[in-house]
Amino acid sequence: MSTPNLTAEAPTVRNSYPVAGMTCAACVHHVGEALRAVPGVTGASVNLATASAAVEHLPGAVEPATLAQAVAAAGYRLDTTAPNANAADAGRDDARRREERALRTRLLLAAAGAVILLLGSFPALPWTDALLSLRWYPLLLWAVATPIQLWAGWPFYTAGWAGLRRGQPNMHTLIALGTTVAYGYSAATVALDLILPVFLGDSAAGWTAGGLHFDMAAVIVALILLGRWLEARALSRTSDAIVRLMDLQPRTAHLIAADGATADIPAEQVAVGDTLLVRPGEQVPVDGVVQSGASAVDESSLTGESMPVDKAAGAAVYAGTLNGAGAFTMQAARVGADTALAQVIRLVEEAQGSAAPVQRLADRVAAWFVPAVGIIALTAAAVWLLLGPAPSAQYAMLTLVAVFIIACPCALGLATPTAIIVGVGRGAERGILMRNAVALERAHAVNLVAVDKTGTLTRGQPQVVASAAAAGVDDAAVLRCALAVEQFSEHPVAQAVMRYGQTQGLTPPPSDPDASDFTAHPGAGVTGRVDGRPVVVGNAALLSQYGIEINGELSAQADRMAAQGQTPLFVGQEGRLRGVIAVADTVRPDAPGAVASLRAQGVRVVMLTGDRPEVAAAVAAACGIDEYRAGLLPGDKAAALRELHAAGSVVAMVGDGVNDAPALAVADVGIAMGGGADAARESADIALMRDDLLAVATALRLSRATMRTVRQNLFWAFFYNALLIPVAAGALYPVFAALGGVPPGLAFFFGDAGFLNPILAALAMAFSSVSVVGNSLRLRKARI
Ligand code: ADP
Ligand code: MG
Repeated sequence: MSTPNLTAEAPTVRNSYPVAGMTCAACVHHVGEALRAVPGVTGASVNLATASAAVEHLPGAVEPATLAQAVAAAGYRLDTTAPNANAADAGRDDARRREERALRTRLLLAAAGAVILLLGSFPALPWTDALLSLRWYPLLLWAVATPIQLWAGWPFYTAGWAGLRRGQPNMHTLIALGTTVAYGYSAATVALDLILPVFLGDSAAGWTAGGLHFDMAAVIVALILLGRWLEARALSRTSDAIVRLMDLQPRTAHLIAADGATADIPAEQVAVGDTLLVRPGEQVPVDGVVQSGASAVDESSLTGESMPVDKAAGAAVYAGTLNGAGAFTMQAARVGADTALAQVIRLVEEAQGSAAPVQRLADRVAAWFVPAVGIIALTAAAVWLLLGPAPSAQYAMLTLVAVFIIACPCALGLATPTAIIVGVGRGAERGILMRNAVALERAHAVNLVAVDKTGTLTRGQPQVVASAAAAGVDDAAVLRCALAVEQFSEHPVAQAVMRYGQTQGLTPPPSDPDASDFTAHPGAGVTGRVDGRPVVVGNAALLSQYGIEINGELSAQADRMAAQGQTPLFVGQEGRLRGVIAVADTVRPDAPGAVASLRAQGVRVVMLTGDRPEVAAAVAAACGIDEYRAGLLPGDKAAALRELHAAGSVVAMVGDGVNDAPALAVADVGIAMGGGADAARESADIALMRDDLLAVATALRLSRATMRTVRQNLFWAFFYNALLIPVAAGALYPVFAALGGVPPGLAFFFGDAGFLNPILAALAMAFSSVSVVGNSLRLRKARI
């Protein structure tokens, strides 16, 4: 694994705060919007599972109180008292638990009240008629129903009102309206039944008979709370992946003082440069470099690779990885929010909180769905009231409540985010980091994977295998020239030359890049000066660009090297060809299998390389690839990708080196391999934490599985709502009327007249949210 700098540095500060009141995935969206709308805020990612929001803003531009106000205006609470103080833990343990407990208390009260009201007023029960004939009995029902409606159902009022005030009526608005209608209608009935007769005499009594539906309002509130509670519990499971990552954050470190004494300190207090002791079986506390001792470290938490990695002096170790049987000392290099683990967590959190394009569609649908439903409900109710059969007020009320409740797009808000959270989390467990939901969504359509050769199909650790010098030049002189300029290059072939120089006992002349006029020519080579004389090292094109001809014996030798799959590097000095160095790279053992696995998914694989056609052909053959393009400059790679895209393919580009960054950015999906340079990661949509091409196939399969889940969820959440709206509006009434009444078996569903029982609507709604979350949870176990 390299030292991933996964997020672009920007001069912003980032704080995370616990958020209370988020009950549904749609809330994430609302809180995020509210925060992003605050002037000075450059980004906000809200995580439902950890009940927290991470806010990025320009330094000094934003007061925490302003953020809290914005969130409060949206109907939620941002706790600014403990920013970052282990935000994950605070958010998870306190806010979330409080939330769940509060929900459960309301649920228990509502459930108990609903049972009492059902027992006290359900028509089929033997005692109901006797009770209902008691003159003041309805007042008792009213008294039981009121705390349920006003206290247990209070969250619906606050959230519903917040939405309404912003001109965006939401599902809470619908629930609040629906239950209020049922409750209010019943309350009005009681009032009229008991109070009117006082003035008008007994003749007025009973004209609203059958208008008591306190039980209905209570059962709806209880069912929705039940659904919400089940959902909240299931929701926290959608993100166990990130919770596990957070739990990896080490708590303590053993600091070795200058006098050799060790002291235990909290991991957050470790400073860069500190020397630390890591004992067997312990977690590495921060990122750093091994100083003494040796061990094997299990890095699976970061890379998904289960084989422990051997570490000795000089090796990089990462916070949160697990030390094996050895002990070692290390020097801290990156601490706190800079460790690879912290960056992975941030990336995963951001990706989990980001919105997929398909979700924006769902949000747009939900945004007009709610007002549209309101209009449908009111129209249907008005029609039944004015034109319908008696008891028309009753039927109007039933349609109003049923439509409000059935149409509530609660599951619609959950459909995408829950699947994205699980999908992104599963990816992280496998060392596959999705930058955002957009990347995840796009990856599912990929049907062509373009792969870079060096470092992707090959190990990226080429070795110098041969060298030849021009007549009158000795080998060592050629190599010394190459070393002098390659020491400044990060390219794998440069490193091969450096290693080779070491084995030959040569060290590059000490010089700094400025004095030696060093320039990298991506995809071609390097130029510079040695002892004041210009040197060119690179491919034939670069040398000819500097007016150096390649001919004679050296040219023939280079052709022979290339035919064997070796890359010839030409060394020219002062306008003349001095020698040629052959480097060869070995094909990664997993490459052929990964190519086959991509092919099996119906994905076309194309190799793009800056190397010579002969070398490309040799590597392609070894990997089982039959399409390749060779001799490409970095810009050509991007052009090739554009061309493949224009020809109708959805293209993923897999690359590593700096010279792949433009190509990664141009591809529909850019996938950066773990060993690569940071620049590649920043332009990548998906970062692989280990150098394993098979992970590309896994990433594509994962994104397909995730999008399949999203589509299923949307189907269950939306079509089901849409389908039942006409039924709730009373469309079946004429059908049942024509049939001569509701068949007895269907009476529970449609009453005796054919109107959808609103309780059923609530039941169906609770069920649909729970099943959507459940469906997303299945993704945790899906085979990818
Ligand atoms: P690939 O597509 O295989 O990753 P690159 O695009 O990185 O290859 O490079 C293309 C070619 O440019 C290499 O095969 C090599 O001949 C030459 N080259 C690139 N960088 C260097 C360097 N630092 N030194 C010498 N040659 C280089
Ligand atoms: Mg490369």
